[in-house]
Amino acid sequence: MTIPLVDLKAQYQSIKPEIDAAIQRVIDNTSFIMGKEVAQFEEAFAAYCGAKYAVGVSSGTGALFLALLAHDIGPGDEVITTPFTFFATGEAISQVGARPIFVDIDPVTYNIDPALIEAAITPYTRAIMPVHLYGQPADMDAINAIAQKHGLIVIEDAAQAHGSRYNDQRAGTLGDSACFSFYPSKNLGCYGDGGAVVTNDPQVAERVAKLRNHGRMTKYEHDELGYGHRLDGIQAAILGAKLPHLDDWNAGRRDRAARYAELLADLPVSAPRHLPETEPVYHCYTIRLDEGYDRDAVVQHLKDNGVGVGVHYPIPLHLQPAYRFLELEPGAYPVSEKAAHEVLSLPIYAELTDEQQDYVVGALREALGV
Ligand SMILES: *Cc1c(COP(=O)(O)O)cnc(C)c1O
Repeated sequence: MTIPLVDLKAQYQSIKPEIDAAIQRVIDNTSFIMGKEVAQFEEAFAAYCGAKYAVGVSSGTGALFLALLAHDIGPGDEVITTPFTFFATGEAISQVGARPIFVDIDPVTYNIDPALIEAAITPYTRAIMPVHLYGQPADMDAINAIAQKHGLIVIEDAAQAHGSRYNDQRAGTLGDSACFSFYPSKNLGCYGDGGAVVTNDPQVAERVAKLRNHGRMTKYEHDELGYGHRLDGIQAAILGAKLPHLDDWNAGRRDRAARYAELLADLPVSAPRHLPETEPVYHCYTIRLDEGYDRDAVVQHLKDNGVGVGVHYPIPLHLQPAYRFLELEPGAYPVSEKAAHEVLSLPIYAELTDEQQDYVVGALREALGV
């Protein structure tokens, strides 16, 4: 049996007529760049999140970059974030000229540990960028309380958390601005690159809308130097066709996650756990092996047996070669470093069958020798 980490083909097959019609519509009216499809999707996605504005951009990385710029964060500023994330989180902070200040994670949720944030605040700190890792919102009440006390902006990296909730609010409305990725394998993904900045702040929305399109709001007048970071029409149309299915797909992921938890109960692994305030969307189903197991050997065994498996993430940002200039040593963020050695992600998607899950867990059992 071969089981991919994510099965985009199965999802396409389940809604093929809707996707095909959406793409054809864009070709028929040649609204390839920006245009009606983008505006419609922006409105629908903002409403879905429960926010006032969503501005479509070229990728999740572009969303992070433009949101930071829109909040006037740049050279001389510090932004607090987690080292246990996809590289783009830190990269965007660095690309605007600011400095990422890493704060270690909570060992259970893998999200930034709010108890460690205040010690990292300096006179240069401007913002906190929590990442809702694997689709579970970070501990936002605690983070927002710290931000409020110190006058900091909160920008969510919600690239893995479309539709997740913290209390009754969706990711996208849990800080000042939020950044989403529509990379194909994300919970809401297009068929190329795409992203969005979601906010209730009209000034931030307008600034992102301007910056993504060469600093202009009209065709020939450019108010400031901007970027080419637009969302294209075909991607927006695909996203618009998929959005009505997102809650079902996320519910399917939660159902599969609950079944994994049962199947894994007697194995020497920790299944994901979530804060009672959160409703996660399992972008990844990431387990941690008990101490003493060779994670990389287990990953290899699963791969050899046709199981798509991922490691999110094997190298924390402070130990990436690109961040050598920050001069952070191994041991600087011990909780993240330990997780980086022990975690692995199993296939998860709404279409995953019982039989496939049984096979995955059987292969894992074999790899662990239990
Ligand atoms: C995917 C992802 C990004 C980047 O999104 P792209 O669309 O690939 O640029 C940023 N942050 C996190 C946490 C991600 O998972």
